[in-house]
Amino acid sequence: MRKALVKEGQAPHTAIIGCADSRAPLETVFDAMPGDIFVLRNAGNTCTHAEGSVLGSLEFCVAALQSKMVLVLGHTACGAIKGATATYLQAKSGNKPQVTKALDALLVGLSDVAKKASEELGEGATEAQIVDRTIKLNVFHTIDFLLQYSPLVREKVAAGEVEIQGGIYDLETGHVEFLGQSPAQATLVKSASTLPPSLA
Ligand SMILES: [Zn+2]
Repeated sequence: MRKALVKEGQAPHTAIIGCADSRAPLETVFDAMPGDIFVLRNAGNTCTHAEGSVLGSLEFCVAALQSKMVLVLGHTACGAIKGATATYLQAKSGNKPQVTKALDALLVGLSDVAKKASEELGEGATEAQIVDRTIKLNVFHTIDFLLQYSPLVREKVAAGEVEIQGGIYDLETGHVEFLGQSPAQATLVKSASTLPPSLA
């Protein structure tokens, strides 16, 4: 099989953007073999501060390898999202987060999603509730980034050649809850942006 994959080339049916969390290993979760799935992982399954590398890799996958499905997969009890939520709540209480290392910048970048989740839930929401909501919104936040900043992805989606879905992997049960397409997909396929902000 390995020799055939080298000789014939790879043709993964699905690209997955997942979290780097060691408890969410995507090939294991989906019983995938070499050549099956094209996996991109970082803490928080995000394009924040990884715009070129995540989006560029995904463009290679859907254009050159012709993958048909893109799945952005968050997971329960995500440490990156917990950190981002804590960063948002800290900022809200008047303590401006200090950015002295790359991890701080990552969490500040993700905290905008926690802010949106908190505003949706309203006053009285617990930190745990905000975290759960942020995990879900962050999946769509990443999907929306792919659509907004990649003409290649937009063309494929508009032509029905690629489908982008969200999901949440439950660390305790091993089940994946599929969330469907981004509610903003129809709007974002009309976006005019050709490069992510950091590369424009
Ligand atoms: Zn995580």
